Amino acid sequence: MEKVYDAHVHHLMEVPIDDAIEIFKEDFEWQGMEKYIFLAISHETNTDNTQVLTFHLQNAKCLFLKREFSPNAYAFASLVHPDDYSDPDAVAEDFLRQTKEYMSAGFDGIKMLEGYPSLLKLRKIPLDSPMFDKFYAYCEENAIPITSHIANPKDNWDPALVSEYNVSVGRAYDDTYPTKEEITEQTFRVLEKYPRLRLSLAHCGFLTYDISEMERFLSFENTIADITPGGEQLFNMAAEWDKWLPLIEKYQDRFVYGTDFYAFQRKPDGSVSHNGRPVFLRQFFETDEEHTYITETFRGVKLDKSLRDKIYRENFARLYPEPKKVDDKWLVNEVERVYREKKFRFRLEERDCEYILGKVKQSVSDK
Ligand SMILES: [Zn+2]
Repeated sequence: MEKVYDAHVHHLMEVPIDDAIEIFKEDFEWQGMEKYIFLAISHETNTDNTQVLTFHLQNAKCLFLKREFSPNAYAFASLVHPDDYSDPDAVAEDFLRQTKEYMSAGFDGIKMLEGYPSLLKLRKIPLDSPMFDKFYAYCEENAIPITSHIANPKDNWDPALVSEYNVSVGRAYDDTYPTKEEITEQTFRVLEKYPRLRLSLAHCGFLTYDISEMERFLSFENTIADITPGGEQLFNMAAEWDKWLPLIEKYQDRFVYGTDFYAFQRKPDGSVSHNGRPVFLRQFFETDEEHTYITETFRGVKLDKSLRDKIYRENFARLYPEPKKVDDKWLVNEVERVYREKKFRFRLEERDCEYILGKVKQSVSDK
Protein backbone atom coordinates (compact mmCIF):
# COMPACT_ATOMS: atom_id res chain seq x y z
CA MET A 1 0.00 0.00 0.00
CA GLU A 2 1.28 3.50 -0.83
CA LYS A 3 2.02 5.47 2.34
CA VAL A 4 0.07 8.63 3.06
CA TYR A 5 0.45 11.70 5.27
CA ASP A 6 -2.90 12.99 6.46
CA ALA A 7 -3.37 16.73 7.03
CA HIS A 8 -6.89 16.40 8.44
CA VAL A 9 -7.62 14.31 11.57
CA HIS A 10 -9.88 15.14 14.56
CA HIS A 11 -10.76 13.74 17.96
CA LEU A 12 -14.31 14.84 18.64
CA MET A 13 -16.24 11.68 19.44
CA GLU A 14 -17.42 10.53 22.84
CA VAL A 15 -14.53 8.11 23.20
CA PRO A 16 -12.12 8.13 26.16
CA ILE A 17 -8.74 9.48 25.13
CA ASP A 18 -6.81 6.28 25.90
CA ASP A 19 -9.20 4.22 23.76
CA ALA A 20 -9.06 6.91 21.06
CA ILE A 21 -5.29 6.46 20.95
CA GLU A 22 -5.73 2.73 20.31
CA ILE A 23 -8.39 3.45 17.67
CA PHE A 24 -6.07 5.94 15.93
CA LYS A 25 -3.23 3.39 15.95
CA GLU A 26 -5.42 0.77 14.30
CA ASP A 27 -6.76 3.23 11.75
CA PHE A 28 -3.35 4.65 10.86
CA GLU A 29 -2.00 1.13 10.37
CA TRP A 30 -5.03 0.16 8.25
CA GLN A 31 -4.62 3.28 6.09
CA GLY A 32 -0.85 3.14 5.68
CA MET A 33 -0.79 6.55 7.32
CA GLU A 34 2.61 7.62 8.59
CA LYS A 35 2.17 11.29 9.54
CA TYR A 36 -0.92 13.21 10.57
CA ILE A 37 -2.22 16.53 11.85
CA PHE A 38 -4.72 16.63 14.71
CA LEU A 39 -7.00 19.61 14.11
CA ALA A 40 -8.72 21.08 17.18
CA ILE A 41 -12.28 22.38 17.08
CA SER A 42 -13.11 24.58 20.06
CA HIS A 43 -16.62 25.53 18.95
CA GLU A 44 -19.46 23.91 17.06
CA THR A 45 -23.18 24.52 16.94
CA ASN A 46 -25.91 22.22 18.22
CA THR A 47 -27.84 20.26 15.59
CA ASP A 48 -30.63 22.82 15.19
CA ASN A 49 -28.06 25.61 14.87
CA THR A 50 -29.48 27.73 17.68
CA GLN A 51 -26.54 27.64 20.03
CA VAL A 52 -22.75 27.74 19.90
CA LEU A 53 -21.13 24.95 21.93
CA THR A 54 -17.64 25.34 23.33
CA PHE A 55 -15.21 22.46 23.80
CA HIS A 56 -12.63 23.64 26.25
CA LEU A 57 -10.52 20.50 26.22
CA GLN A 58 -10.03 20.34 22.43
CA ASN A 59 -6.72 22.14 22.22
CA ALA A 60 -5.23 20.17 25.10
CA LYS A 61 -6.49 16.86 23.72
CA CYS A 62 -5.01 17.52 20.27
CA LEU A 63 -1.67 18.54 21.75
CA PHE A 64 -1.68 15.43 23.95
CA LEU A 65 -2.42 13.24 20.92
CA LYS A 66 0.46 14.89 19.08
CA ARG A 67 2.70 14.13 22.05
CA GLU A 68 1.58 10.50 22.17
CA PHE A 69 2.21 10.03 18.44
CA SER A 70 5.46 11.96 18.40
CA PRO A 71 7.48 12.38 16.18
CA ASN A 72 4.91 11.60 13.47
CA ALA A 73 2.15 13.93 14.62
CA TYR A 74 1.33 17.62 14.43
CA ALA A 75 -1.43 19.62 16.12
CA PHE A 76 -3.32 22.74 15.08
CA ALA A 77 -5.02 24.75 17.83
CA SER A 78 -8.36 26.45 17.49
CA LEU A 79 -9.11 29.95 18.83
CA VAL A 80 -11.42 30.07 21.85
CA HIS A 81 -14.04 32.76 21.37
CA PRO A 82 -15.48 35.01 24.07
CA ASP A 83 -19.16 34.89 25.05
CA ASP A 84 -19.70 38.38 23.74
CA TYR A 85 -17.91 40.53 21.21
CA SER A 86 -18.82 43.96 22.60
CA ASP A 87 -15.19 45.04 22.86
CA PRO A 88 -13.74 44.19 19.42
CA ASP A 89 -10.28 45.53 20.22
CA ALA A 90 -10.02 43.29 23.26
CA VAL A 91 -11.17 40.29 21.22
CA ALA A 92 -8.59 41.02 18.52
CA GLU A 93 -5.89 41.32 21.15
CA ASP A 94 -7.00 38.07 22.76
CA PHE A 95 -6.93 36.15 19.45
CA LEU A 96 -3.38 37.38 18.92
CA ARG A 97 -2.39 36.45 22.48
CA GLN A 98 -3.85 32.96 22.06
CA THR A 99 -2.03 32.43 18.78
CA LYS A 100 1.32 33.33 20.30
CA GLU A 101 0.59 31.12 23.30
CA TYR A 102 -0.39 28.10 21.19
CA MET A 103 2.65 28.43 18.97
CA SER A 104 4.99 28.48 21.94
CA ALA A 105 3.09 25.56 23.53
CA GLY A 106 4.04 23.35 20.58
CA PHE A 107 1.15 23.66 18.15
CA ASP A 108 2.09 23.72 14.48
CA GLY A 109 -0.74 25.83 13.12
CA ILE A 110 -4.30 27.05 13.63
CA LYS A 111 -7.52 25.32 12.63
CA MET A 112 -10.46 27.60 11.82
CA LEU A 113 -14.10 26.60 11.76
CA GLU A 114 -15.12 30.26 11.93
CA GLY A 115 -16.34 30.12 8.33
CA TYR A 116 -18.89 27.38 9.06
CA PRO A 117 -22.37 28.62 8.02
CA SER A 118 -24.07 28.01 11.37
CA LEU A 119 -21.27 29.66 13.35
CA LEU A 120 -21.32 32.65 11.02
CA LYS A 121 -25.09 32.94 11.41
CA LEU A 122 -25.04 32.84 15.21
CA ARG A 123 -21.93 34.92 15.83
CA LYS A 124 -22.30 37.41 13.00
CA ILE A 125 -18.49 37.68 12.89
CA PRO A 126 -17.39 37.37 9.26
CA LEU A 127 -14.03 35.87 8.37
CA ASP A 128 -12.77 39.29 7.33
CA SER A 129 -13.89 40.95 10.57
CA PRO A 130 -11.28 43.40 11.93
CA MET A 131 -11.33 41.19 15.04
CA PHE A 132 -9.18 38.72 13.10
CA ASP A 133 -6.78 41.30 11.66
CA LYS A 134 -4.06 41.01 14.28
CA PHE A 135 -4.33 37.23 14.14
CA TYR A 136 -4.04 37.07 10.34
CA ALA A 137 -1.23 39.63 10.27
CA TYR A 138 0.73 37.64 12.86
CA CYS A 139 0.14 34.35 11.04
CA GLU A 140 1.21 35.88 7.73
CA GLU A 141 4.30 37.48 9.22
CA ASN A 142 5.37 34.29 10.99
CA ALA A 143 4.34 31.83 8.26
CA ILE A 144 1.93 30.07 10.64
CA PRO A 145 -0.21 27.58 8.69
CA ILE A 146 -3.99 27.89 8.96
CA THR A 147 -6.44 25.18 7.92
CA SER A 148 -9.90 26.62 7.48
CA HIS A 149 -13.27 25.02 6.84
CA ILE A 150 -15.37 27.55 4.94
CA ALA A 151 -19.00 27.16 3.87
CA ASN A 152 -20.19 23.71 2.76
CA PRO A 153 -21.27 22.20 -0.58
CA LYS A 154 -23.16 24.62 -2.81
CA ASP A 155 -26.21 22.32 -2.98
CA ASN A 156 -26.80 22.88 0.75
CA TRP A 157 -28.12 26.36 -0.11
CA ASP A 158 -30.58 25.03 -2.66
CA PRO A 159 -33.77 23.50 -1.22
CA ALA A 160 -34.29 21.55 -4.45
CA LEU A 161 -30.83 19.96 -4.33
CA VAL A 162 -29.89 19.58 -0.66
CA SER A 163 -29.91 15.95 0.48
CA GLU A 164 -32.27 14.66 3.14
CA TYR A 165 -29.26 13.76 5.21
CA ASN A 166 -27.97 17.33 5.16
CA VAL A 167 -31.42 18.62 6.12
CA SER A 168 -31.50 16.18 9.05
CA VAL A 169 -28.11 17.29 10.38
CA GLY A 170 -28.85 21.02 10.12
CA ARG A 171 -26.81 21.67 6.98
CA ALA A 172 -29.58 23.07 4.78
CA TYR A 173 -29.23 26.85 4.57
CA ASP A 174 -32.01 29.36 3.99
CA ASP A 175 -31.73 33.14 3.83
CA THR A 176 -31.08 33.42 7.58
CA TYR A 177 -27.56 32.14 6.80
CA PRO A 178 -24.85 33.96 4.91
CA THR A 179 -24.81 32.83 1.31
CA LYS A 180 -22.20 30.49 -0.10
CA GLU A 181 -20.90 33.33 -2.30
CA GLU A 182 -20.62 35.70 0.67
CA ILE A 183 -18.54 33.20 2.68
CA THR A 184 -16.25 32.60 -0.30
CA GLU A 185 -15.88 36.36 -0.84
CA GLN A 186 -15.00 36.87 2.84
CA THR A 187 -12.16 34.39 2.32
CA PHE A 188 -10.91 36.18 -0.77
CA ARG A 189 -11.05 39.54 1.02
CA VAL A 190 -8.83 38.04 3.74
CA LEU A 191 -6.37 36.81 1.10
CA GLU A 192 -6.36 40.14 -0.70
CA LYS A 193 -5.42 41.80 2.56
CA TYR A 194 -2.94 39.09 3.62
CA PRO A 195 -1.76 37.63 0.31
CA ARG A 196 1.11 35.59 1.76
CA LEU A 197 -1.10 33.82 4.31
CA ARG A 198 -0.40 30.08 4.48
CA LEU A 199 -4.07 29.26 4.14
CA SER A 200 -5.26 25.73 3.49
CA LEU A 201 -8.94 25.24 2.71
CA ALA A 202 -10.39 22.00 4.02
CA HIS A 203 -12.37 20.03 1.42
CA CYS A 204 -10.88 22.36 -1.25
CA GLY A 205 -13.03 25.10 0.27
CA PHE A 206 -16.06 23.48 -1.44
CA LEU A 207 -14.98 25.54 -4.45
CA THR A 208 -14.85 22.69 -6.95
CA TYR A 209 -18.29 23.48 -8.35
CA ASP A 210 -16.42 26.18 -10.28
CA ILE A 211 -12.84 25.52 -11.34
CA SER A 212 -12.20 29.24 -11.81
CA GLU A 213 -12.87 29.80 -8.07
CA MET A 214 -10.30 27.12 -7.26
CA GLU A 215 -7.80 28.68 -9.64
CA ARG A 216 -8.45 32.10 -8.11
CA PHE A 217 -7.73 30.64 -4.66
CA LEU A 218 -4.54 28.90 -5.81
CA SER A 219 -3.29 32.06 -7.51
CA PHE A 220 -2.29 33.35 -4.05
CA GLU A 221 1.25 32.20 -3.43
CA ASN A 222 0.91 30.20 -0.19
CA THR A 223 -2.56 28.72 -0.46
CA ILE A 224 -3.16 24.98 -0.11
CA ALA A 225 -6.02 22.75 -1.23
CA ASP A 226 -6.81 20.04 1.32
CA ILE A 227 -8.50 17.31 -0.72
CA THR A 228 -10.26 15.68 2.26
CA PRO A 229 -13.56 14.47 0.79
CA GLY A 230 -16.56 16.41 2.06
CA GLY A 231 -19.65 16.26 -0.04
CA GLU A 232 -19.24 16.50 -3.74
CA GLN A 233 -15.81 17.90 -4.48
CA LEU A 234 -14.10 14.87 -6.01
CA PHE A 235 -17.19 14.06 -8.08
CA ASN A 236 -17.15 17.62 -9.42
CA MET A 237 -13.51 17.12 -10.38
CA ALA A 238 -14.16 13.74 -12.01
CA ALA A 239 -17.01 15.21 -14.06
CA GLU A 240 -14.63 17.73 -15.66
CA TRP A 241 -11.37 15.86 -15.31
CA ASP A 242 -10.02 17.19 -18.61
CA LYS A 243 -10.03 20.63 -16.97
CA TRP A 244 -9.03 19.59 -13.48
CA LEU A 245 -5.99 17.52 -14.42
CA PRO A 246 -4.15 20.52 -15.96
CA LEU A 247 -4.99 22.59 -12.87
CA ILE A 248 -3.66 19.88 -10.55
CA GLU A 249 -0.53 19.62 -12.69
CA LYS A 250 -0.05 23.37 -12.64
CA TYR A 251 -0.46 23.56 -8.85
CA GLN A 252 0.93 20.13 -8.06
CA ASP A 253 2.83 21.41 -5.02
CA ARG A 254 -0.33 22.75 -3.40
CA PHE A 255 -2.66 19.77 -2.91
CA VAL A 256 -2.50 17.72 0.30
CA TYR A 257 -4.16 14.47 1.34
CA GLY A 258 -6.67 14.27 4.20
CA THR A 259 -9.39 11.95 5.50
CA ASP A 260 -11.32 13.60 8.35
CA PHE A 261 -10.92 10.59 10.66
CA TYR A 262 -12.40 11.26 14.13
CA ALA A 263 -11.63 8.11 16.18
CA PHE A 264 -15.21 6.95 15.87
CA GLN A 265 -16.80 4.79 18.53
CA ARG A 266 -16.01 1.11 18.10
CA LYS A 267 -18.55 -1.20 16.54
CA PRO A 268 -20.48 -3.50 18.92
CA ASP A 269 -17.99 -6.31 18.19
CA GLY A 270 -15.13 -4.05 19.35
CA SER A 271 -13.62 -3.48 15.91
CA VAL A 272 -12.63 -0.02 14.69
CA SER A 273 -15.17 1.90 12.65
CA HIS A 274 -12.98 3.32 9.86
CA ASN A 275 -14.56 5.98 7.71
CA GLY A 276 -15.03 5.35 4.00
CA ARG A 277 -12.92 8.26 2.86
CA PRO A 278 -9.48 6.61 2.68
CA VAL A 279 -10.84 3.84 0.45
CA PHE A 280 -12.70 6.40 -1.66
CA LEU A 281 -9.55 8.52 -2.10
CA ARG A 282 -7.44 5.56 -3.12
CA GLN A 283 -10.05 4.25 -5.55
CA PHE A 284 -10.30 7.75 -6.97
CA PHE A 285 -6.58 8.48 -7.38
CA GLU A 286 -5.14 5.00 -7.91
CA THR A 287 -7.60 3.22 -10.22
CA ASP A 288 -9.46 3.90 -13.44
CA GLU A 289 -12.36 1.64 -12.56
CA GLU A 290 -15.91 2.31 -11.49
CA HIS A 291 -16.69 2.37 -7.76
CA THR A 292 -19.46 3.49 -5.46
CA TYR A 293 -18.95 5.87 -2.55
CA ILE A 294 -22.03 5.96 -0.29
CA THR A 295 -24.66 6.32 -3.02
CA GLU A 296 -22.59 7.91 -5.77
CA THR A 297 -21.00 5.95 -8.61
CA PHE A 298 -17.74 7.35 -9.95
CA ARG A 299 -14.78 6.34 -12.09
CA GLY A 300 -11.24 6.66 -10.69
CA VAL A 301 -8.92 9.15 -12.40
CA LYS A 302 -5.71 7.13 -11.92
CA LEU A 303 -3.37 9.99 -11.29
CA ASP A 304 0.30 9.61 -12.31
CA LYS A 305 2.36 8.16 -9.48
CA SER A 306 4.59 11.25 -9.38
CA LEU A 307 1.57 13.52 -8.80
CA ARG A 308 0.12 11.11 -6.30
CA ASP A 309 3.40 11.06 -4.35
CA LYS A 310 3.16 14.83 -4.06
CA ILE A 311 -0.44 14.78 -2.83
CA TYR A 312 0.05 11.73 -0.62
CA ARG A 313 3.31 12.79 1.08
CA GLU A 314 5.75 15.18 -0.54
CA ASN A 315 3.73 18.38 -0.25
CA PHE A 316 2.94 17.67 3.39
CA ALA A 317 6.63 16.95 4.09
CA ARG A 318 7.68 20.24 2.51
CA LEU A 319 4.92 22.30 4.19
CA TYR A 320 5.30 20.76 7.65
CA PRO A 321 8.95 19.75 7.90
CA GLU A 322 9.41 19.26 11.63
CA PRO A 323 6.73 19.17 14.35
CA LYS A 324 7.30 21.74 17.10
CA LYS A 325 8.28 20.51 20.52
CA VAL A 326 5.37 20.10 22.94
CA ASP A 327 5.60 22.20 26.10
CA ASP A 328 4.50 19.71 28.75
CA LYS A 329 4.12 22.43 31.37
CA TRP A 330 1.66 24.32 29.19
CA LEU A 331 -0.26 21.12 28.58
CA VAL A 332 -0.49 20.34 32.30
CA ASN A 333 -1.64 23.89 33.09
CA GLU A 334 -4.24 23.85 30.36
CA VAL A 335 -5.69 20.49 31.41
CA GLU A 336 -5.68 21.51 35.07
CA ARG A 337 -7.56 24.69 34.19
CA VAL A 338 -10.30 22.83 32.34
CA TYR A 339 -10.43 20.23 35.13
CA ARG A 340 -10.70 22.85 37.85
CA GLU A 341 -13.37 24.82 36.00
CA LYS A 342 -15.17 21.58 35.05
CA LYS A 343 -15.63 22.78 31.48
CA PHE A 344 -16.29 19.42 29.90
CA ARG A 345 -18.10 18.54 26.72
CA PHE A 346 -18.61 14.95 27.80
CA ARG A 347 -18.60 13.61 31.34
CA LEU A 348 -15.79 11.28 30.38
CA GLU A 349 -13.55 14.27 29.78
CA GLU A 350 -13.12 14.55 33.53
CA ARG A 351 -11.49 11.13 33.38
CA ASP A 352 -9.56 12.18 30.23
CA CYS A 353 -8.08 15.07 32.20
CA GLU A 354 -6.94 12.70 34.93
CA TYR A 355 -5.47 10.35 32.36
CA ILE A 356 -3.56 13.11 30.54
CA LEU A 357 -2.31 14.64 33.78
CA GLY A 358 -1.16 11.24 35.02
CA LYS A 359 0.87 10.62 31.86
CA VAL A 360 2.30 14.08 31.33
CA LYS A 361 3.07 14.91 34.97
CA GLN A 362 4.97 11.67 35.29
CA SER A 363 7.33 12.59 32.49
CA VAL A 364 7.64 16.20 33.68
CA SER A 365 8.82 14.90 37.06
CA ASP A 366 11.14 12.34 35.39
CA LYS A 367 13.04 15.17 33.68
ZN1 LIG B 1 -12.69 18.11 9.45
